[in-house]
Amino acid sequence: MPTLGALEKAGWHGLQSYCRACRIGAILIWAYLKLAPALDFDTVAARLRCSRCGRRPEPGDVRPYYHDTGHAQGRGVPPGAQDVPPAKPPHGQAG
Ligand SMILES: [Zn+2]
Repeated sequence: MPTLGALEKAGWHGLQSYCRACRIGAILIWAYLKLAPALDFDTVAARLRCSRCGRRPEPGDVRPYYHDTGHAQGRGVPPGAQDVPPAKPPHGQAG
């Protein structure tokens, strides 16, 4: 998985997470996160918690965020990025 620095370089504006329990999403831009660019996306995604209920988001519910200004044909993907990094399937037993 890419590092935060690599994602930012590719044009992503931050991370977005979604809580299935609260059914709310949160957008966390880099300036707000204030994390080291060397950190791995997976590492950061695993640390995120819902600000309302405190649950951790499911794997795949944390994704890079791109503020689509209309120039990227509405894909929500920055021009410098090839694809959204694939969500890592959960390992081991569920629950
Ligand atoms: Zn929640």
